[in-house]
Amino acid sequence: MSFDKLNSPVDLGFTVLKNRVIMGSMHTGLEEEKNGFSKLAAFYAARARGGVGLIITGGIAPDRFGRLAPNSAKMTNHSEVEEHRLITKAVHAEGGKICMQILHAGRYAHHPFALAPSSIQSPINRFAPWSMPFWIVTQTIRRFVRAAKLAQEAGYDGVEVMGSEGYLINQFLTSHTNNRRDEWGRSFDNSSRFATSIVSGIRQAVGRDFIIVYRLSMLDLIEKGQSWSEIELLAKRIEEAGATIINTGIGWHESRIPTIAQMVPRGAYSWVTKRLMGKMRIPLVATNRINTPELAEQLLQEGACDMVSMARPFLADPDFVRKAVSGLSHQINTCVACNQACLDFIFNRKTASCLVNPYACRETELKITPASIIRKIAIIGSGPAGCSAAITLAQRGHRVVLYEAQDKIGGQLNLAAGISGKHEFKETMRYFQVQLNVWNVDVRLSNEFRLIDAQGYDEIIVATGALPRAIDIAGIHHPMVINYRDILEGSVKPAKRVAILGAGGIGIDTAMFLLKGNAEQSVAEFTNQWGIDQAYENRGGLKSATPVENSAQVVYLLQRKPGKIGARLGKTTAWIHRLELKHAGVKIKTGIQYERIHDGGIDISLNGEVQTLAVDQIIVCAGQTSNNKLYNELLSLNIPIHCIGGAVTADELNAHRAIEEGTLLGLKL
Ligand code: NAP
Ligand code: SF4
Repeated sequence: MSFDKLNSPVDLGFTVLKNRVIMGSMHTGLEEEKNGFSKLAAFYAARARGGVGLIITGGIAPDRFGRLAPNSAKMTNHSEVEEHRLITKAVHAEGGKICMQILHAGRYAHHPFALAPSSIQSPINRFAPWSMPFWIVTQTIRRFVRAAKLAQEAGYDGVEVMGSEGYLINQFLTSHTNNRRDEWGRSFDNSSRFATSIVSGIRQAVGRDFIIVYRLSMLDLIEKGQSWSEIELLAKRIEEAGATIINTGIGWHESRIPTIAQMVPRGAYSWVTKRLMGKMRIPLVATNRINTPELAEQLLQEGACDMVSMARPFLADPDFVRKAVSGLSHQINTCVACNQACLDFIFNRKTASCLVNPYACRETELKITPASIIRKIAIIGSGPAGCSAAITLAQRGHRVVLYEAQDKIGGQLNLAAGISGKHEFKETMRYFQVQLNVWNVDVRLSNEFRLIDAQGYDEIIVATGALPRAIDIAGIHHPMVINYRDILEGSVKPAKRVAILGAGGIGIDTAMFLLKGNAEQSVAEFTNQWGIDQAYENRGGLKSATPVENSAQVVYLLQRKPGKIGARLGKTTAWIHRLELKHAGVKIKTGIQYERIHDGGIDISLNGEVQTLAVDQIIVCAGQTSNNKLYNELLSLNIPIHCIGGAVTADELNAHRAIEEGTLLGLKL
């Protein structure tokens, strides 16, 4: 496929963007780290080198009240300008352009000085905000302007004003958060003046030749959100106030509708931007779940937008645009929208990285250098750990042979990719396969490694993964008992009445598989399931949801621990799984004990009372154990042996850990 539209320039009058791709704003955590700005400079420079048309930084607060957390970065004085110069210089040296995002968190600020139009607490923040006195409102507008002026001084090509996702500007715009009786509330004209005053104030201060992107909330996805006519009117006023580009914002953070998770179909929100197309003179940008250049080109060709913004795809592959426009789109390391190493890390106060690209945000630390001594290395197992190690070692010049007992690479990724809502993992396997070819790794499929095969290798890496944990319950050997592999690999057909023992990541995935199989949801099915109103008849773009039901299927999901299921899953996705299971009628029981399995099903006890769950199939999803038998055998040989991924320990095993361990070992040998 050619990417003519994607690769066509955008003439903004005073400057030209070389293509139609924006790297959207992402907070990485480096903003607050010691020497973080030099790391950020390397991070953004790599993306500029990779050809993206315009980069937008993570959100920077215009004052201390607007910070998301007490230590979040702000732009308030000349000394802060200095560190930003590191970024702008590095990006410009690579021929890129970059805007600084100005973000005032409003009532989403996680500190006691949170400010908001009205003192209405957010359901996702333990801090209640202070209502902004009149003079603080006008002062805040001036501080947005000051931040933009300082950004200009720091060498940025422009700013993005964050007006969506439920942050301060968005909070002024709906009665959900604004019940003021003064000139900043009561009517649309009043409440929208906060946004337009910020944009016109910035334009006046920075002059004509400076980009102002405005991130417009086009779909609030909350009760009492904005109506479409208000959004359209606001867009026009923002344009009149001096914005150069309008970017799309989807959903407030407190909305209980998924907007970027993996189960959201690709391009599921592009219809929102399309509604505004033809009504504005300035370019409109589509966002959310756009992760391939093919989809981006399609949306541009269809007239759904003038530009596309992708954020996480640039964590996954800094060379996204360069690869696309040079005919190498099959070599792109695709973001799988898992959130596991980006957003979930940020929520855990860790620096962001990427599950499929451990180099992300570590550009100054992790570098591929040629090996000083070329070795012949055998890797056993082609799951995420084995493939990552093989590719990294081959990139460094080693001679690598990858053994795989199955007839395809990928290991457990094959199981995940076969579950509805998790298809993106196919892209990771495609990427691995292409890279193994590019770097001439000798891949031996259907080839079980034996001790005798070890001869002739300088090093051996064992990446044999994990096995289902066997558990001990009375009746566990009953023929109706199987494990998750049997069902996900398709060797056993699901029964109508099923009990799943264990409600961790795999138990939840297995429940989803029973309910939805491996079906890929269409955008229409997704919007119906979650109650998103494409006709936009109601405020916030909401309508009643029609959850997917599979009434023929009875599923019990069981956990011995009390409390909610999926507690160890990522914060950004666990709530979605819980809601989906609830909507689908899965019977979740926690705090139970397993008593006995028998012909009639399984006896469990809850609060001392025994009950029988009448089921025809029991699927054990009780965690995993290391598959390390071969490793232990190999230790008897006089060859350096290494062990990575699930074969080392199955605790807290996930694809992120596996890929990281494979890559780090590959960089070391
Ligand atoms: P897990 O998350 O550790 O869950 C194992 C479940 O089995 C728990 O619910 C546990 O709860 C139960 N269990 C443990 N020992 C048991 C025993 N002896 N008898 C009965 N029940 C027992 O492990 P997993 O589900 O196998 O997942 C493996 C790894 O993959 C995890 O790190 C997981 O986070 C990751 N994963 C992540 C995702 C994702 O979407 N992010 C998806 C799949 C897997 P009780 O002991 O309380 O019953
Ligand atoms: Fe995408 Fe997952 Fe990487 Fe985040 S961690 S950028 S969601 S692949």
